[in-house]
Amino acid sequence: MDKNNCSVDLRKLILMLSIVSGLVIVVSAFYAAYSVQRQQLIQASLANNYVYADKLAKTTDDFLGSAQQQLMFSAAVLSGKLNDKSTLASEVDRIRLQTDSFNSVLIVDVTTEVLATSPEALQITGLKLSTPGVLESIRQRAPVISNPYVSTAGNLLIFISHPIFSGNGDYLGFVAGTVYLKKKSALHRLLGEHYHKDGSYIYVVDQNRRLIYHPNAARLGETVDNNPLIDRLVQGDEGESIIVNSEGVEMLTGFAIARKTGWGVVAQRPMRAALAPLDNLMQQVVYKTLPAVILCFVVIVWSAKKISMPLRMLADGAQRMNDDGTEKNIQNVKSWYFEAQELKKAMLLGVGLLHGNIRKLREDLHKDPLTGLGNRRSLDAALQKFKNLQMDFSVLSIDIDYFKTVNDTHGHDVGDTVLQHLAQFLSHICRVDDVPCRVGGEEFIILLPGTHKVDAAKIAERLRQNVEATEIPVVGKITISVGISCYPEDARDVFAVFKHGDEMLYQAKRHGRNRVEVFRPARADAEASA
Ligand code: GH3
Ligand code: MG
Ligand code: MG
Repeated sequence: MDKNNCSVDLRKLILMLSIVSGLVIVVSAFYAAYSVQRQQLIQASLANNYVYADKLAKTTDDFLGSAQQQLMFSAAVLSGKLNDKSTLASEVDRIRLQTDSFNSVLIVDVTTEVLATSPEALQITGLKLSTPGVLESIRQRAPVISNPYVSTAGNLLIFISHPIFSGNGDYLGFVAGTVYLKKKSALHRLLGEHYHKDGSYIYVVDQNRRLIYHPNAARLGETVDNNPLIDRLVQGDEGESIIVNSEGVEMLTGFAIARKTGWGVVAQRPMRAALAPLDNLMQQVVYKTLPAVILCFVVIVWSAKKISMPLRMLADGAQRMNDDGTEKNIQNVKSWYFEAQELKKAMLLGVGLLHGNIRKLREDLHKDPLTGLGNRRSLDAALQKFKNLQMDFSVLSIDIDYFKTVNDTHGHDVGDTVLQHLAQFLSHICRVDDVPCRVGGEEFIILLPGTHKVDAAKIAERLRQNVEATEIPVVGKITISVGISCYPEDARDVFAVFKHGDEMLYQAKRHGRNRVEVFRPARADAEASA
């Protein structure tokens, strides 16, 4: 195919193929690394959040357990002392101030009347209370941890109480502590000190879907419906999940249940924050891979050139098969691999054959096929050469005598062998630069460059005698007639010189054949005028 018709060559093909496949490999490796790392970061963050939520749930349980234990201890101390106002007052202060578990502490009798409060500032001593915490404690006569509710003083709180029984088991009332949810409290400290700058946060909901803790204080006490995660928590489910929060942020969430209360603790981290290390990680991967990629690219370019070079040179050779330098160019091709080597061998063979054929065709073009002598074309070429070199020359016009008879007697084939014999004679008497040609059926011409009339005549005479003296198989002896003319001696026009030579040949025939006749201008004029 012509190079110009096809712009893609082998080198470009190899380059394209290698680079495309390299890119596919690199991109898919990057993508795989990215996916695996991403998955790992998500899994790790989910697991962390679950562990964290679970730990906070347990800590909350521990806190409530120890709060209950303190009240239990006090209930035992207070049994039988409910009438001792000063003991009650000092006990509520002790519980509140010593343990720091409660925002307020109160002792209530079986009629719901408040017997003592700490801090006194609440000013509820002597009042009968009907808050959910008080009512539930009286009704249950057992340790209570209430659901959050808003107190008489307007605080969102949980109410923790322990019953007080007399020595003989009569129910006397209860000692209780409150934990505020919207103000600073022990629970607040427990849960609230875990806010992260990257948008991670925790929140706690009770069994009634009410927010007990949330970094956004305005939402405390809010009941959250239509939240699948809280649905799961209410059902007692624990685990990990990827969710979209109320602000539309994708969150990696771990959630666990505090057993004592059934509260759900949720720890969550924004997906974006969890995946933040990924960019840096991938950048590292790129930096570390880059040198190998560049090296590969250089090797690919170099190899593509090395592989395509021999074929390119062979292709160039194929395009210029006829040119003389092609064989040498193909020999110079460094065919370093099997296919190129075989192609090179085949092409060298092909070029050799082609050039051989062309040479033979050229030779045949100037050769008479029967005798191997030159033909009219080689005669013209020789004349052109003599003209260019400005060389003198003599012309011998030769014709076999009575050749028709040879043909008639022995057949055309034998006639042909006679022509071949004569051609051999002519070749023998010729020097290197002489030009013997067959110009007609049994007519020959010999050009003798640099030879003048006298020598030409001697050569012709010697030829005639040799032919006459030689026995040809089957035919026996033949004779020839020869006419001689010279350039520029006899005419300045080459055509005229040949004409004179022809005339001399026919003159030889006329004068009896088996003769040599030399053109003599003066005599020719005289004969012409006679
Ligand atoms: P002359 O002495 O006058 O030349 O007599 P000739 O018989 O040779 O007469 P002419 O030159 O006119 O005859 C040429 C003959 O040569 C006629 C033809 O049969 C024969 N001839 C021409 N070309 C070939 C050839 O290629 N092969 C053979 N065998 N014979 C040829
Ligand atoms: Mg003839
Ligand atoms: Mg003849």
